[in-house]
Amino acid sequence: MPAIHSQTAHELKDQMQKGAFKPSAIIEDLLARIKDIDGKTRSYTLVNGESSRSTAKGLDSSGSKGALSGVPVAIKDNICVKGEETTCASRILKGFKPPYDATVVKRLKEAGAILLGKTNMDEFAFGSSCETSCYNPTRNPWDTRRIPGGSSGGSAAAVAADETILALGSDTGGSIRQPASMCGVVGLKPTYGRVSRYGLIAFASSLDQIGPITKDVEDSALLLSVIAGHDEMDSTSVDLPVPDYKKALVKHVEGLKIGVPKEYFVKGIDPQVLRAIKKAIDLLHGLGAAVEEISLPHTEYALAAYYIVAPAEASSNLARFDGVQYGFRAGGAEDLIDMYIRTRSQGFGNEAKRRILLGTYVLSSGYYEAYYLKAQKVRTKIKEDFDNAFRDVDCIITPTSPTAAFKIGERLEDPLSMYLSDIYTIPVNLAGLPAISLPCGFTGDELPIGLQIIGKPFDEETLFRAAYTYEQNTDWHKKRPNIT
Ligand code: GLN
Repeated sequence: MPAIHSQTAHELKDQMQKGAFKPSAIIEDLLARIKDIDGKTRSYTLVNGESSRSTAKGLDSSGSKGALSGVPVAIKDNICVKGEETTCASRILKGFKPPYDATVVKRLKEAGAILLGKTNMDEFAFGSSCETSCYNPTRNPWDTRRIPGGSSGGSAAAVAADETILALGSDTGGSIRQPASMCGVVGLKPTYGRVSRYGLIAFASSLDQIGPITKDVEDSALLLSVIAGHDEMDSTSVDLPVPDYKKALVKHVEGLKIGVPKEYFVKGIDPQVLRAIKKAIDLLHGLGAAVEEISLPHTEYALAAYYIVAPAEASSNLARFDGVQYGFRAGGAEDLIDMYIRTRSQGFGNEAKRRILLGTYVLSSGYYEAYYLKAQKVRTKIKEDFDNAFRDVDCIITPTSPTAAFKIGERLEDPLSMYLSDIYTIPVNLAGLPAISLPCGFTGDELPIGLQIIGKPFDEETLFRAAYTYEQNTDWHKKRPNIT
């Protein structure tokens, strides 16, 4: 039998049902794995040894029937867990222990999941590499000289390195899909409104979504069904029934219409990525899907619009971190204003400061119309591009990112090159759509490549169907990094 930590949640559930082992055995195995490996990947900011052991013991004897009973989950460090330090990988939140659970956390606990710990991220989710964390960069388990992607890099690396079974990430412009792609695992950004964000420390409220990072598509469906659904604590969560996603795990794409946007296959894309995506499209075509070229004409403006809207919202969301209510407060201040200045100067890292400055600028009087309002209009155009495309096709296939994982430090001094990493994921957030990233090959350097499938609003089922069919006809998801 393969090691416990190398299994998926659905495999572990089957084994537990057969009585092969109990939750405590799973937790002991995972904690040992983290002890062996985490010094190399540095995926976690906090590991809950004691509390996960005691939850597991309780489940051993109660034999709870929850959908995730006894299954370990790692939580990105911007999602509140009651009483556990939650920092968004920022110095300014050091010591902050939320007084409540995020709704997704509450649902996980109710389903019997065991929370293994908090995972590393770019500070406040600003980034694509996990390098802006106040702790340390997380390393890609496929090559520890490289970034794991970001901002949910800790969650993706932990899943890829078998340091957890499941993980949660958040995605504002690609932060679930891009690291999933770079670590060779499955990442899903649900439709805006599908999953409650109550208890997610906000980056850009009109874009943020929480979603699953898993080893395969079946686990993605399983985890989404636990966290999805209306929540009266988040007015942006939509009151629609949650479908039985398991039913969408069918292995056929006959009659499915796939669109391939011509604007996404232009210069800047690594030829190895291009080749892998083309092969994946051919495979789905061979299995009976219809493939047609589509146009998303406003694609080239997406990045510019995002880097106005997202920092604008971030600057407003981050205004509350001033040393009064949360986390860190700088010492030595002469008065209140001085305390604010010292706390924010010392508490935020460079990328956070850049975003606050940018966001404050585009919202300031005189510039609001020229930048923020204009960007919102571009956003509408981008949404209309997708609406038009979805009149003809059921889903859209693109690369997740133009390149595989880059080296640590390579893009840190050049924010624009870092921002380009999300060129294919950002339009999806601007339009509020669901999209999944799944492994579809490797570069010559043995680095994973990700395939993105974008769906219509609230049609995660089509994503699961296309992704599951692709996955079950390939072996990429079975490959694991050789890290010991
Ligand atoms: N990399 C993008 C950014 O830096 C997206 C991050 C995210 O989705 N949280 O804003």
